[in-house]
Amino acid sequence: MSQTQAVYHGGCYCGATRFEVSGKPIISAYCHCTLCQRLTGCPFVHTIHFDPPAFRWTHDGGEQALELYKVKDKPAKHRYRCKECGACVASYHAQRDRWSIWGGQLKRTHETGQIEGWREMKATHHIFYGTRMLDVEDGLAKWEGYENTSTRLG
Ligand SMILES: [Zn+2]
Ligand SMILES: [Zn+2]
Repeated sequence: MSQTQAVYHGGCYCGATRFEVSGKPIISAYCHCTLCQRLTGCPFVHTIHFDPPAFRWTHDGGEQALELYKVKDKPAKHRYRCKECGACVASYHAQRDRWSIWGGQLKRTHETGQIEGWREMKATHHIFYGTRMLDVEDGLAKWEGYENTSTRLG
């Protein structure tokens, strides 16, 4: 099979750090957990997970341009922020062996301002909905924890 996989681009606020992801995500969800809330200040984040071969850094300087940090509640998660603008730009979960990115950091099309590859990237459900800061009426499934391994809340 020589099927070429679609590639999508993203990066930090200033553009000094960039990544690309290819193919379909393992998970694309809106996360309402309190850790995401405290780390971003946002009521929920759009988190998209990939297998390691599907993720790579593409900016000049590689890890030199990034600062690695971990938080004590979740030390297996290796978070990277841009040394230039300070934005967290992607993270790697060492136990689950997965990369995750935020939907808001994916490249937009010039024409519509929409995220490129939105059909593949868009969230399919909500996770950690029990700690939500707002109700979301979008028809997607709502889970107490992760999809299919926790109580469904809506
Ligand atoms: Zn930056
Ligand atoms: Zn979260």
